[in-house]
Amino acid sequence: MIAQVIVDVSAYPVDRPFDYRVPHQMHDLIEAGSRVKVPFGHRDVLGFIVGLSDETDVPVNKIKEVSKLVDIEPVLTTEMLEMAKWMTHKTLCYEIDALQVMLPAALRAKYEKTVHILVSSADLEPQLATIFGDKKAIPYRKFEQADVLLDLKRAVKAQQLQIITVVKQQGAIKSIRKFVVSSDEQFLNQQLDALSNRARKQKQAIEWMKQHIGERFLPQELIDDHGISASVQKAIVDLGVATFVEEELYRDPFSHDVQKSLPLALTDEQQEALQAIENSMNHDVATTFLLHGITGSGKTEVYLQAISNALAKGKESIVLVPEIALTPQMTERFRARFGELVAVMHSGLSQGEKYDEWRKIQRGEVKVVVGARSAIFAPFTNVGLLILDEEHESTYKQEDTPRYHARDVAIWRGRYYNCPVILGSATPALESYARAKKRVYELLTLNNRAKNQVLPSVEIVDMRDELHEGNRSMFSRSLAEAIRQRLKRKEQMVLFLNRRGFSSFVLCRDCGTVVQCKNCDISLTYHRNTEKLKCHYCGYEEHVPEQCPQCQSEHIRFFGTGTQKIESEIYKVFPEARVIRMDVDTTRQKGAHERLLTDFGEGKADILLGTQMIAKGLDFPNITLVGVMSADTSLNLPDFRAAERTYQLLTQVSGRAGRHDLPGEVVIQTYTPEHYAIEMAKDQIFEPFFEREMTMRRRSSYPPYYFVVVIQVTHEDVMKCAEYATMASDFVRMNLSQQVQIIGPTASSISRIQNRYRYQCLIKYKREPQLNDVLKQLIKLYRTDWIKKGVLMTVDLDPSTI
Ligand code: ADP
Ligand code: ZN
Ligand code: ZN
Repeated sequence: MIAQVIVDVSAYPVDRPFDYRVPHQMHDLIEAGSRVKVPFGHRDVLGFIVGLSDETDVPVNKIKEVSKLVDIEPVLTTEMLEMAKWMTHKTLCYEIDALQVMLPAALRAKYEKTVHILVSSADLEPQLATIFGDKKAIPYRKFEQADVLLDLKRAVKAQQLQIITVVKQQGAIKSIRKFVVSSDEQFLNQQLDALSNRARKQKQAIEWMKQHIGERFLPQELIDDHGISASVQKAIVDLGVATFVEEELYRDPFSHDVQKSLPLALTDEQQEALQAIENSMNHDVATTFLLHGITGSGKTEVYLQAISNALAKGKESIVLVPEIALTPQMTERFRARFGELVAVMHSGLSQGEKYDEWRKIQRGEVKVVVGARSAIFAPFTNVGLLILDEEHESTYKQEDTPRYHARDVAIWRGRYYNCPVILGSATPALESYARAKKRVYELLTLNNRAKNQVLPSVEIVDMRDELHEGNRSMFSRSLAEAIRQRLKRKEQMVLFLNRRGFSSFVLCRDCGTVVQCKNCDISLTYHRNTEKLKCHYCGYEEHVPEQCPQCQSEHIRFFGTGTQKIESEIYKVFPEARVIRMDVDTTRQKGAHERLLTDFGEGKADILLGTQMIAKGLDFPNITLVGVMSADTSLNLPDFRAAERTYQLLTQVSGRAGRHDLPGEVVIQTYTPEHYAIEMAKDQIFEPFFEREMTMRRRSSYPPYYFVVVIQVTHEDVMKCAEYATMASDFVRMNLSQQVQIIGPTASSISRIQNRYRYQCLIKYKREPQLNDVLKQLIKLYRTDWIKKGVLMTVDLDPSTI
């Protein structure tokens, strides 16, 4: 028997399966998807079995043997092995990286395996029973040593035993102390009789315990609810009629219980959407739906009921949300509907916690996963539905190797299981909407808010006028007045500071001009250290002007404000206002985000002030005003998606107002009110924006009309960096067809990070059958040669930013 093994080494020459002989005693133990240790060079390395066969081209005297089987239960499913192959091709990564990304990080950390007995030891095979003796759990290695892995494997399959992996990590193993009432009623009675009457409290407690034979309680619960103090508990344990045990706990990421919710009666629009999704589910068709619904139209309720349908069929569902730590309200809605059937995976969890959730999924203890990007790899084996909420969000694209997009993975899995995929958004990605119009996706539309509330009224304030009329404050007169009203009426508001990316630009406060590149129609990026403005597309640069090139005003300068500065300004202008500020500084601590939102929900503040992280998912009835401090910030990013991102953000954040009974109002402050992304955000109708933006994209050959690839080269030495970037550009120029546009090399928007210079080359193409092969050759060149010269190169197909 031969095992094909992908070894855990990210290096070019080893990016292929290697054949190893499987020793005889492993024949019945080994399966594809298990990890093994194999000799490689002069050491043993970890590897994944991606296939088993009975032939090999390796000569008999050359072939090496698998030295150790790490898992007798595979960690990767057949589906994942196939998916890894696809991802390797799709993102041009190493296969090992594709395999690793599907597994929780904890599996790379230190861990210990124990075997737990689930039945009475009399039911076990004698050789296993002997190892257990009278114990309930035994270290896995004892079974290895006793050479009974095959029996162990059978017993695990028969659900007599369970292998539990405990991640060795500080504070990882969480246990909780429980007070366990003895199940021996007779003994309880004896001890009760033997107690002196002076021990009145103990007697009372034991009387009560007789009604709860064998039950387990939290010590605190006994104190709070049954008046059994800590000292009485201890005395009772000393008598032997109860014991304290340390119960291993799944680290439950939810800090509190949620109230159960019931399905709502759907609106006609919702019903129609759900019907289409259920049809696809009932006929096992892998349709991708684009659920385009305005904010508050009840998309989430559609997801919930579609999931119920999947559950009724015994199938599992995966729900992705952009950054779950930022949307606690969203997760709660899933928990409220499906309770313990839901696992939550997000970046706020520790490695151990993530592993616990993963384990619940793998064992089928949960049926629904709600999580951020990587949850798309949830190891379910009977998927019935995949959902991406806010499908346009850039967080769905991983920025490291493997550079996959969760949307692509979802669609791949949908095909694998013949089940529907729902992409939901109020402001779909241009690519997705274009696909829906071409009927690659099926478009489902929700045009009305679920409770028929009107969309908030939106006012656009021209900040140039404010300045001209002598208002130098960050608050326009409109916004200041609106805030004052809300404070008086005791309603709540959200103030949103648009700050995306690191880039900053130079703006004229008199006329709103942002200094642009002479060649590219894109804002120049301000580089503080050199006091220069640079074009990140073509390399053009100039000094920061002292006068506005349009109107000669001297009020032209670097633009950018922090939340802290706004907060102190609020206190100056509205001394009575209570503010909760939410930004990276105030949410660094675990759980801080959730706590701040809870506080706001409980009315402990009038104003919620924050960045992107408050734009999404908030649903508070008392919010009647949303203020956008400056809409321009994201508009002037040097990115072809800047207008789209701005429109999305403004729509998202406006959608936080007036979701319930009180009508909402939105005030958007801007220096460029005439820009279509801002103008059109006022009406909140997607279609005209889509048409307009498509025209722009067609004109400048960007997605969805063209595909884009970015090759980025970095080096500590700026000359070397430019040299290799030129070599990379020349290479693709020489090998790709004439129809392909290749721009660069140019310095990246952030031209140096951690002392490495960055250059990039942009490839735009419509159809280029050679592309993958050419890029693979370039990557080979890099991996076999350039990398030794200190060059780092990445190739990003379909990047989320440029
Ligand atoms: P979206 O996800 O599209 O922004 P939500 O699902 O958050 O919208 O719905 C907005 C509000 O409307 C929520 O408070 C939700 O409970 C409520 N809602 C959704 N569907 C219905 C319905 N069919 N009947 C009554 N209320 C609904
Ligand atoms: Zn000007
Ligand atoms: Zn330029």
